[in-house]
Amino acid sequence: MSSGLPTAEPRPTVENHPYWEGTAQGRLVLPRCTACGTVIWYPRAFCSSCRGTDVEWFEASGRGTIYSFTISHRGQGPWRDVAPYVVAYVELEEGPRVLTNVVGCDPDEVKVAQPVEAVFEPAGEYALLRFAPAGTTS
Ligand SMILES: [Zn+2]
Repeated sequence: MSSGLPTAEPRPTVENHPYWEGTAQGRLVLPRCTACGTVIWYPRAFCSSCRGTDVEWFEASGRGTIYSFTISHRGQGPWRDVAPYVVAYVELEEGPRVLTNVVGCDPDEVKVAQPVEAVFEPAGEYALLRFAPAGTTS
């Protein structure tokens, strides 16, 4: 889908390449620490909880809820022409809180605790992870 929000092209690293490869296929692929089970965000090859360096990659559900959000009425640079837009922390079903945009709805209809689903907006070879209200993405 395309929300019309700016899509800066990602520059994957060796560490987070599985995540970006997933986005290109419309899949949310995240690392999980094999020592303590923590699901790691932002994707990288070490655990933010126990500092372990053994991670496995798995496909997450793409489901989450809005933890907090703000409506930005004045963007900068390429964001200037797309305001108002929603900047939110989405808490994934698997635990991590992701700073993202909520798209595909009127910003005034966004609510804390609202269920949302991952959407992937093409950005060059990969795609950017954003979220839309649950049930609106297919
Ligand atoms: Zn760990």
